[in-house]
Amino acid sequence: MTKQRPILGLDLDNSVFWEAQPFLDATNDQFNASVPLHEYSENHAKMWGVSPTVANKRTEWWHASGHIADLPLLPDAYEVLGTIHETHDIVPLTSRRFDHRKFTYLALAKTGLDAFLEPPIFTGFYRSGAEGKVHATKVDILQAMGAEGHLDDMLKHLGDLSVERPIARPAHPNGNVVDLAAYRRRMARRPVHGITMGNYHWNQADRLPDKVVRANNWLAALDHYKQHFAEAA
Ligand SMILES: [Mg+2]
Repeated sequence: MTKQRPILGLDLDNSVFWEAQPFLDATNDQFNASVPLHEYSENHAKMWGVSPTVANKRTEWWHASGHIADLPLLPDAYEVLGTIHETHDIVPLTSRRFDHRKFTYLALAKTGLDAFLEPPIFTGFYRSGAEGKVHATKVDILQAMGAEGHLDDMLKHLGDLSVERPIARPAHPNGNVVDLAAYRRRMARRPVHGITMGNYHWNQADRLPDKVVRANNWLAALDHYKQHFAEAA
C-alpha cells in the first residue's frame, strides 16, 4: 500500500505572494487614499476610516480588478516550495473569495507554483451563500485534512487564542456571528504546528502560539521545515 504523503497547509497573501504594498498602491490610487504600509490592516474599514459597506466594495474592487493575478512572489518562495513538494502535499488555504478563483489560478500558473501545489481551498470566511463556500476556519480545515502543519502570516490561523474576532466579523454583512468562547475552546483542542511567515507589524506577539515558529523569510522557513516536518515525511 502506498503511504499517503503528509499534508502542509499554505496561506497565499503575504505568505507566498507579496500583497500588502501592491494592494495599498492600487487602492490608494483608485480611492484617492494615502495609507502607508505601516498602517496596513486586515480591518479595511478601520484602515480607511470608512463604513464596512464602503470597505467591502473597495475590497471587492481589488479582487475583481485582476491585480491579484500579478502579485510578486516573496523571495525564494518558489524554490523552497519546490523542495517541500518533494515530500509533502501542499494545500493552499486562502480567505480570498471563491468567485475570485480565476485570478488565483492564473497567478499560480503564471508563477509556476501550480506544479507544486494542490488546488487551493477558498475558505469563504467573508461570504456566505457563495458558490463553493467552505465557511470554516483554516484550523478546522487543516484538522479535517489531517495536515501536519501550516504556514501563514496571520497568527490567528495558527491557533492564536488571543485574537479577538477570529473569523468573519460583524463588519461583513454576510459574515458569521462568532461565539468567541466556543471558538477558543475548539482551537485549544486543535493545536496546529505552524510557521508564521514574515516579521510584519500585523503578526507581532509577545509570545507565539504553542507549536508555532517564526520565519522571517522563505530560507528560514526551509530551515524550520527541515527541523519540524521533513523527518516525518
Ligand atoms: Mg496571508
